[in-house]
Amino acid sequence: MSPATVAFTGTDEELVRRLLGRPPRLPYVVATRCPGGTPQVLQADPVFREDKRWKPFPTIYWLVCPRLKKAVARLEQEGGSKMFTQRLRDDPPFREEYLAGQRELIAFRLSEARRLIGGPLPPDLETVLNEANIAGSRDLFGVKCLHAHVAHALAGGRNPIGRAILERIGLCRPERPCLSPAALAAPTRPAGGARP
Ligand SMILES: [Zn+2]
Repeated sequence: MSPATVAFTGTDEELVRRLLGRPPRLPYVVATRCPGGTPQVLQADPVFREDKRWKPFPTIYWLVCPRLKKAVARLEQEGGSKMFTQRLRDDPPFREEYLAGQRELIAFRLSEARRLIGGPLPPDLETVLNEANIAGSRDLFGVKCLHAHVAHALAGGRNPIGRAILERIGLCRPERPCLSPAALAAPTRPAGGARP
């Protein structure tokens, strides 16, 4: 039996709005796409303007593929976050690679922020962008949101947590539909929270 495929022929903008369930609040680019061509990972700007001030937004990579989001959520429910926190503690090469990848991410995020602001960063902003990991946590070893790690790995970042999860749940493939009718029919909620 072949799985039901759902074709979406609208624009990226329309699809992203439906996948997020609301309009995005921050500027973004589509970093990667699923085999069907629809957005898989969004890359948001690490800083945004609000009330005439620049504010930090450290969680720059967002997983939007509904199939991956669901599989990662299931893994989180099964204790995946705790498992990877433990692995960072117990597996030195895994930890070293993870830390190197987080340092690269931090350097990239700071340079993007400086480019967007057009000069040096205000100290408070520099501190947040210097300390937060990919999932926005200041505790580099506190693995909470696995979605952010998967999005980072898909976007080409060095992230052994994201890579290990993708090995488990499988990459998006043409024969495995990413969009379900339910995901496309998601009702639009009002914008809010620290989201792109
Ligand atoms: Zn996908």
